[in-house]
This record gives sequence, structure tokens and C-alpha cells, in this order.
Amino acid sequence: MTTKIATETVPYELVSGLEIHVQLNTKSKIFSSDSATFGAQPNENISAVSLALPGALPKLNKEVVAKAIRIGLALNCEINQYNFFDRKNYFYADLPKGYQITQDNSPICKNGYLTVTLANGDEKRIGINRIHLEEDAGKSLHDQDSKYSYVDLNRAGVPLIEIVTEPDIRTAEEASALLTEIRQLVRHLNVSDGNMEEGSLRCDANISIRKIGETAFGTRCEVKNLNSIRNVRRAMEFEFGRQIEVIENGGSIIQSTLNFDADKGTTSPMRTKEEANDYRYFPDPDLQPISISDEWLAEIKSAIPALPKEIAKQLIAEFGINTSEANMLAEDIDLYQYFNEAKTTVNNQKSLINWLLGAIRGLLNEQNIGIKEFSASPKQLATLINLVDDKKISQQNALQQLLPAISANTDVLAKANELNLLIVENADEISSYIEEVFAKYESQVQAYKNGKKGVLGLFVGEVMKLAKGKADAKKVNELIIERLK
Ligand code: ADP
Ligand code: MG
Repeated sequence: MTTKIATETVPYELVSGLEIHVQLNTKSKIFSSDSATFGAQPNENISAVSLALPGALPKLNKEVVAKAIRIGLALNCEINQYNFFDRKNYFYADLPKGYQITQDNSPICKNGYLTVTLANGDEKRIGINRIHLEEDAGKSLHDQDSKYSYVDLNRAGVPLIEIVTEPDIRTAEEASALLTEIRQLVRHLNVSDGNMEEGSLRCDANISIRKIGETAFGTRCEVKNLNSIRNVRRAMEFEFGRQIEVIENGGSIIQSTLNFDADKGTTSPMRTKEEANDYRYFPDPDLQPISISDEWLAEIKSAIPALPKEIAKQLIAEFGINTSEANMLAEDIDLYQYFNEAKTTVNNQKSLINWLLGAIRGLLNEQNIGIKEFSASPKQLATLINLVDDKKISQQNALQQLLPAISANTDVLAKANELNLLIVENADEISSYIEEVFAKYESQVQAYKNGKKGVLGLFVGEVMKLAKGKADAKKVNELIIERLK
């Protein structure tokens, strides 16, 4: 815990397991061809299946299964090659069927784990109990009208997976490290956009406490629908304190479902916990069991790209960059793909890394865009970097003038030429600039000769100005020193 009381004065430890709902980024829904994309007008993405009209039958989207298997393998799970769907029965206005199609006793993946690295360098292995497939429900809108609630069924039938961890989490930091890594993995594997603000990744945190040294678990409470990693941490820290207080005051924890109030940072009861048998789970008779052949499983396995941790390791070995640099590149799949494409054109790959993690990252942050929206293609950027490395254009001109002038079909070299940015290899011209600067700064030249070497920078700067940046600063520097001897 980050709360000091946890380790110093209070003899309790936190125990937590997370249920992480991940919206898969398939084009269509799990049991129909309705679009599964975010941001449509209310009830635009619906058909007989989403509306649950009588007689409408579900048909499984194969891509959903493939994506669940991909993340399952990355989380070191066993894949249940024979699994099936159940009905979870409950009534709610945004659930027109009266049941949610989900997996109860036969999840598609089970018995996995993920090892996360904590701030102090320690590694922590967190078990994954299971991953099951399910459909999302619709959405009730209570704030659109003063008298009525509206129902939007766009989300009904959008594919979800639920990743359920073992109660192995002991601190809020471990929970946040786990979520950060899972978000990265689903993005990396093109399983989900992992966007917590848009609800593509949501988390319920089950939290209990026990006296340090005890082996039995305490009674848990489940905090529902946490929509940011920060709120997961806050909810855990609050619950830890609250439960300790209840126990210390002689009370006991009642198993319940809680809401988290993000403004106040507190939890409040939503309902007491329902039992699994309240839902009357039974296998859905409308759907065939899923049978995953060895061949298909092997095919999916072989198509899984290297994972961020492996990529980072390889980048460190190949380019001698440090861990945080390697992670920056390995953890952003779009940036890494851009790097791989640019790599084939650029002459100096280390230089490409420096550009991407330095100047280009800065630009992207400034414009608040990802590398995918960047105006220069990998090939164009590589060409520009080559021009700089070959001393055909100054770094500054490349960044400030050439880069902003690049768009989709720009020929980079032609553009540099057109903008008159190419360095003139004309020593006479540079010499005449040097003369000009010396004439202007006579007293400084004298000062230099008297030992005040610091004025050298001034001369170089002035010459570069006269050359409009189209000179190699290092060479100018050498020429000036030569001349002042
Ligand atoms: P349910 O479906 O009723 O929520 P699950 O068996 O699916 O129950 O478990 C839900 C989550 O609760 C799992 O992530 C599990 O690790 C966690 N969990 C179970 N027992 C405890 C406990 N005593 N304290 C904290 N978390 C727990
Ligand atoms: Mg639960």
C-alpha cells in the first residue's frame, strides 16, 4: 500500500482479485453482423438480434474467438479447445432478451498468469483464473428526459472478454501494474483499443483484508465499474482503510457490491452480493459449443507477434539503449511498427531511434496525436534523417523547415532543394562569411586571441546565420579555429 499505516502500524494486508472487462475491437458484434464500433447515433447499430426480436438467432463471430485466444496465450493460459456459452438470466431494461450470453463453467481460457515489474524492480506473478467470452448489454439513459428513461442498444451484443485474476494482488501498485500491462498487451495484439475513457477496458476490484500472517481470506467486497487505473488505486486504498476501521471497531465485513464515487474517492453500497444460482445459468441452446481444432490453435499461436517485453530486450541488446528508452518503443505498437518500416530505409538505426524518442515524440505530444496521424511516412522520415546524418542539411533546418513541409506525396530531397536547405559545400562562400563576421566583431576576435575562447560560439552562430543554416556547423567551427590560429 502507498498508505503508510499499512506496513508500519496496522497489522493488516490487502487481498484483491480483479475482473477486467475488455471490449474486443472486432468490426461486428459477437452474435450478429451489426457494427460494433463506438460513437454511432443511438440505436443505429442494431438489427433483429440486438433487439432480441422473437425468433432471432445468434451466430458466433469467429474473429471474437481468435482474439480471446490471442490474449489468452499471451497471458500464459491453457486454451479450452471445447467450450460453450451459457445464459445468465436477469431482467433489466437494457437487456431485451432477459439474459446475457456469457460463459460460466467453461471459459475459453484458464490457469494463466502475468508477471509484472514493480517500481522497486521486484517482480510479482499474478495468476489468471480464467478468461471468458460474453456479450455487452445495452445502455439506459436516464438524463435525456425529465419523465422517461431511454434505451440505446448499440452496445448490446458488442463482444467482451472478462479476465478474472486470482486473489494474488496485495497492493494498489500491483493492481495498477497489472492493468497497465494488460492494456498494453491487448493493444499490442490488436485485441482491443484498451481505451478506459471510452469504456473499452473496465474493471471490478474485489477487495478484502486479513491480519498479516493469516492464511484464510477475509470476506470480500466488489467495487464495480472502475474506469481508470487511478480510480482502481483510489478505490483500493479507500476500501483498505474502511475495512480496517470496521474490523477494528468490532464489526464484520458483509459481502457486497459497491459503487465508487470518483469525486469523493469513497465507496458506497450498491446491493448485497447475489448468488450465482440467482442467475439460473444454463447452457444456451441456441448456440453450438465452440470447438477449436489443433490446427487453428497452432495457426493463431504462430501469428502472435513478439510481446513488448521480448521486443524491449532485443532492442537493448541490439542498440545499447537503456530500459526506459526500449520500453517507450516496445510498448507503443504503432511507434514500433513505424520504426520497423523506417528501419529499412534509414542508414543509421540508432539515429532513427534518437529521432523517434526525442524530436518526433516531442512533436507528437505537442500536437496531441499518435504516430499514425504523423504527417511524414516512415520512409520520408528515414530520408530526412539520412540527409542530416550525411551532413546535407542541418538538424535544425530538418526539424524546423523540412519536416513541417512534408505531406503525403512529398519527395523529401526535392523539397529540401526547393526550400534551399541543402548545405553548400562551397568553402569559398563559408570563408567569405567568416571574414564578414570577423570584420563585424573585431574586438571579440582580439579577445579570442587573448585567450577568451568562449566567443567561438558567437562566431559559429553568426556564420551559420549568414549561411542560412546551410552549412555544417562542425566544419564551420573547424574553419574558424583554423583561421584564428
Ligand atoms: P464472482 O463471479 O461471484 O464475482 P469469482 O469466483 O468470479 O466470483 O471471483 C471474483 C474475483 O474475486 C476473482 O478475481 C477473485 O480473485 C476475487 N476474490 C475471491 N476471493 C477474494 C477475497 N477473499 N478477497 C479478495 N478478492 C477475492
Ligand atoms: Mg464478479
